[in-house]
Amino acid sequence: MTATPEVDTNPSYEGTATILNPATGAVAGTVRWTDPADVTRIATGLRQAQRSWEARGAAGRAKVLARYAVWLGEHRDEIEALLIKETGKSAVDAAQEVPLLLMILSYYVRTMEKALAPEPRSASLPFLSIKKVTVHYRPRPVVGIIAPWNYPVANALMDAIGALAAGCAVLLKPSERTPLTAEVLMRGWIDSGAPEVLALAQGARAVSEAVIDVSDYIQFTGSSATGAKVAERAARRLVPVSLELGGKDPMLVLEDADVDLAAHAAVWGAFFNAGQTCVSVERVYVLEQVYDQFVDAVVRDVRKLKVGAGEGNAFGALIDESQVAVTERHVADALAKGAKALTGGSRTAGPGSFYPPTVLVDVDHSMLCMTEETFGPTLPIMKVRSVAEAVRLANDSPYGLSAAVFSKDLERANDVALQLDCGGVNINDVISNLMCTTAPMGGWKSSGIGARFGGPEGLRKYCRIETVVAPRTTVGAGGNYYNNSQRALKTMNTMMTKLALIRPKRMAK
Ligand code: NAD
Repeated sequence: MTATPEVDTNPSYEGTATILNPATGAVAGTVRWTDPADVTRIATGLRQAQRSWEARGAAGRAKVLARYAVWLGEHRDEIEALLIKETGKSAVDAAQEVPLLLMILSYYVRTMEKALAPEPRSASLPFLSIKKVTVHYRPRPVVGIIAPWNYPVANALMDAIGALAAGCAVLLKPSERTPLTAEVLMRGWIDSGAPEVLALAQGARAVSEAVIDVSDYIQFTGSSATGAKVAERAARRLVPVSLELGGKDPMLVLEDADVDLAAHAAVWGAFFNAGQTCVSVERVYVLEQVYDQFVDAVVRDVRKLKVGAGEGNAFGALIDESQVAVTERHVADALAKGAKALTGGSRTAGPGSFYPPTVLVDVDHSMLCMTEETFGPTLPIMKVRSVAEAVRLANDSPYGLSAAVFSKDLERANDVALQLDCGGVNINDVISNLMCTTAPMGGWKSSGIGARFGGPEGLRKYCRIETVVAPRTTVGAGGNYYNNSQRALKTMNTMMTKLALIRPKRMAK
């Protein structure tokens, strides 16, 4: 008998609803949905509070964010316990989220002042040096963040931190499947003494649309299909978007790889968070020389994974029956077309939306498990004859989020990495690009537009650029206005043309 952990008992998203634990079917908590009609009022409050938030300056905001980091660190146990109840994650998986946030917070409180500082720019031509040119990063007042359910802490805040640091107010719309954790994160913001520049809007599509309609920038994380709808709606008001969408990340194992390391990485990369990670390893291409050794090592590792939610387990529940259904459909399709399941292959008996880690071999690109995003616990492994074939197959996808290459020859691995059409490549590792707070993380093709947190880009994307041009001297002021003689203007334009052509003429030779 399997429990049917319905995501909420109030599909109309009005009033309150009960959220159930997907691993046990027990009540995880209740949520009060936001009335979409209230979203404008919430945004108006944020818009007012944002002015003084911006006026504090980066150093002032960094202090507030530092206090919030301390609060999150002190409440880590409470947050992780709720995460496990709300998502059915294993303790190992739940333990990853708060530390990632703390790394991001720590990076930005140290670097935000420099990243957001006004930038002096030099004059393009010598005689324009009478001007002092300065580029300022001014925050977009209200940033709407629309989040998915797979990492209720990280996906809610990893982008919100950058927006808040930049001086924006944030209107956060968590997934309707995991609204509870966001309430604790919100409580922490207020309890740590931060001003009211962070607010929640709880609900599903209608509230999400209301958030898009009142925000000045949309940071969306979710499926590619929804991302396209979000971009379309935001475009009506010419509001920019950053879209972090689905993926079908390939892993390439070359014949000179450390095969054991590659196998450990594949198992971790594919089954971490029960495969519900945007940058999870969704397919593997292994050179024929090491294929058997790799498959044996993977199966050996998977058999050691302890399935179950919470403490003592490595591999938790899927978020709900719809995720189990996608996994079942992909596995059934593969088996019907000739693939073999070396582990798992059918859903786990007993309560909860569990599906065991499933290693598939004899797979090819006629199968859904190799072409569509599963976002579940499958690890399809395909034998290839050459690196060129592996690269061709890896790029044969509408997605381009990230990838992994395993080879002991780092130069060769780097060469292969730069042939892959995606936003990030890990060499001899998986998922680690997500931890690199100094560099942006974004997808190519149907995996997204723009990039999420990371580096100064993770702050500046939430800003509008304001260029201020001031005089350094009054000499020559108004030299190009109408009140000068036609002759003087002509001389000046001739001089400008000559000066501007010095370098192109030299380079064009
Ligand atoms: P989803 O697209 O169903 O929902 C995401 C969010 O959009 C939710 O908050 C939902 O309420 C809202 N939403 C739904 N319909 C909407 C509409 N028409 N207009 C506006 N908002 C709407 O995605 P999901 O199932 O919650 O998350 C899983 C997906 O997220 C997977 O495809 C996964 O790859 C992707 N993801 C990507 C990243 C990344 O960084 N690239 C990270 C995590 C998850």
